[in-house]
Amino acid sequence: MATINIRRDVADPFYRYKMERIQSKIEGKGNGIKSVIVNLSSIAHSLSRDPAYVVKFFGFELGAQVTANPSDDRYIINGAHDASKLQDSLDGFINRFVLCGKCKNPETDLIVTKDGQIIRDCKACGQRTDVDLRHKLSGYIVKNPPKKEKKEKKSSGKGKKGKKDKDGESPKDSGSEGLEEDMGIDGGSDDELTKRIRAEAKDLPSNGNGSTLKDDDWAVDMSEEAIKARAQNLPDDLKKALVLEGEEGEDSPYDVLGKWIVSEKEENGGEINGVKVYQKAQELGIEKKHRTLQVLAQTLFDGSIIKKNQVKAHAGLLKKMITSDRHEKALLGGTERFVGIDHPELTNSIPSILMAYYEHELATEETITNWGTKASKKYVDVQTSKKVRKAAEPFLKWLQEAEDDDSDDDEEDE
Ligand SMILES: [Zn+2]
Repeated sequence: MATINIRRDVADPFYRYKMERIQSKIEGKGNGIKSVIVNLSSIAHSLSRDPAYVVKFFGFELGAQVTANPSDDRYIINGAHDASKLQDSLDGFINRFVLCGKCKNPETDLIVTKDGQIIRDCKACGQRTDVDLRHKLSGYIVKNPPKKEKKEKKSSGKGKKGKKDKDGESPKDSGSEGLEEDMGIDGGSDDELTKRIRAEAKDLPSNGNGSTLKDDDWAVDMSEEAIKARAQNLPDDLKKALVLEGEEGEDSPYDVLGKWIVSEKEENGGEINGVKVYQKAQELGIEKKHRTLQVLAQTLFDGSIIKKNQVKAHAGLLKKMITSDRHEKALLGGTERFVGIDHPELTNSIPSILMAYYEHELATEETITNWGTKASKKYVDVQTSKKVRKAAEPFLKWLQEAEDDDSDDDEEDE
């Protein structure tokens, strides 16, 4: 069955949070006419929400009577409502009751507090954001709080002991189990290398611009208007360049390559053979194109990029394909999308990712420095771009410092 991105404003075909498109059928006629949502439970599962919440939401939004029969998986809305209208309405549910209010990631738990607040607890960025209690569904949720599932075992998302990795996991089975497995990975905490770089960067004399890393600076306006505005900011040629889903990008060789890599990984428990990737790119005639690097950055890696040293694992392939600084830039651009959109939980690992690129000579100091100098909307919206660069600061500083040391040495040598 066709899946779509949980966030429909994200046009990235490699976005890993997917759900089925709503399927409905009209039954009965006259006053008895009703819409049956055929795949409601699957969609609710992808969103990690009780199906009753979703169907109640429709009822409130459409001013219609709803019936939920979980036992026989029947979810019905009185009246005739076509699937596209329901899909639009579902966006409202996702925005209000699923996506993190801070980072817009859909991996959140709903928590009803003792004093009747509803909180979205984000697994990606760790923020807890309030749900608007004025919506009628909020009243229903407070009265019918989410059932405590087996999920409780996972403490705060930071404990990764004994958690099994499941990298090969298909983005299509983004059910709660899949989400849970992913959450342990780097759950927002710094890994060792990042810690080291951060520590070193802290000891550096400030270069006067007073840039320190503050969470507040990362805040991104995630209101619907702001997201729409940002989406409109993307120039058309860029939209094309981003290998978009839909008529335009669907058959592009970049899209074909990306989807092929994703499905190969699914079949092979997350592993992918570099030689085969190269051959596939060759077959598609894009093994020399810089844009191919963007696709690779978005598809070769996953949440364990640092933990499993995936940069090193693919360094041979990447090195072979990177033949100019344009290629390097495309790799960094793809990485911006990979982290900024697909894996916000990896934001703190950006310095380590850049370090790995640098160590394996996939990007030169010059390219990384230029990249870090200013935010760009070429690959992601400007806010995300800024956020990623902000997170990269410790590494950029470290690079700068290393360079200064070098030039000091040169002077002494003279
Ligand atoms: Zn979040």
